[in-house]
Amino acid sequence: ENVINQIAAGEVIERPASVVKELVENALDAGASRIEIATAGGGLTLLRVIDDGGGIAAEELPLAVSRHCTSKLSDDVHDIRSLGFRGEALPSIGSVSRLSLRSRQAGGDSGAEIVVEGGRVGPVKPVAANRGTTVEVRDLFFATPARLKFMKSERAETAAITDVVKRIALAFPAVRFTLTGTDRGTTDLAAVPEDGEGLLRRISQILGREFPENALPIEAEREGVRLSGYASIPSFTRGNALNQFAYVNGRPVRDKLIAGAIRGAYMDALPRDRHAVAALFLDVDPALVDVNVHPAKADVRFRDPGLVRGLIVGAIRQALEAGGM
Ligand code: ADP
Ligand code: MG
Repeated sequence: ENVINQIAAGEVIERPASVVKELVENALDAGASRIEIATAGGGLTLLRVIDDGGGIAAEELPLAVSRHCTSKLSDDVHDIRSLGFRGEALPSIGSVSRLSLRSRQAGGDSGAEIVVEGGRVGPVKPVAANRGTTVEVRDLFFATPARLKFMKSERAETAAITDVVKRIALAFPAVRFTLTGTDRGTTDLAAVPEDGEGLLRRISQILGREFPENALPIEAEREGVRLSGYASIPSFTRGNALNQFAYVNGRPVRDKLIAGAIRGAYMDALPRDRHAVAALFLDVDPALVDVNVHPAKADVRFRDPGLVRGLIVGAIRQALEAGGM
């Protein structure tokens, strides 16, 4: 069973940033309004995620770290509202690290903790705990030294963690996120209202205060696909495409099609080595998109890629033209 978990870990847990993604998604699924992320050593020494969500009952802790135990299974895989649904993340992480899961439920009067070390699950112990859940992952990949060798520099792993947190945080403006242990000091994203104005504030928290005044609103809809968001004016660019944030039905995605469409839209407006800054949200009928191509990768498969590409290129070009650019 632990071998199976380690194989699954090889799929789901590529690097510290993948752990952060899974833990933060769990916190969001638990209804957290505040998520604190701490890292050390590029996330290989320590990753800690504290949330104030619904918590886990003491008797559920062993289940939470067991394979394919999820409290989130839905009958229709296309109709998944929650971010997690496979029940693989915690057992995978526990199989390759020292994992501790400490939690207290909203109604519960005491907390409990379970520890998993390289797949060995310990007993549930009562502990003092705040409401919500604290997950601590130490010595990631100590149990799979071969995997450790694939890690990039501490700086690169930290940068990947920061990127994951920003990409998720942009889609959850009402949640306060803090991230410590990076070379940029503490990132503290205050909670903002869950309306258009709040979203714009969260976008500027992440993409920079100068972004909104240098951005054009993007809005379009075609055949069941709705596009909204912001894209920069051609004079506001970056040397890489890291500041392009895209979401499909609220999930952060890293998708070649979307990236290519953005590039195509600016083709005549930008030099080849410059990249637009953008936050784009696609809302697609769930039957027309598969967001679960790979458990850890953030790519998607659209039923009609041409439609999506055309929509993005058309909407950005139209905004640029309307702005006289
Ligand atoms: P999944 O998210 O796919 O269900 P995970 O392995 O990520 O699988 O988590 C297993 C289970 O542990 C979840 O279904 C949930 O019940 C519980 N869980 C994990 N993290 C949290 C958390 N931060 N708050 C509350 N429950 C959690
Ligand atoms: Mg999960």
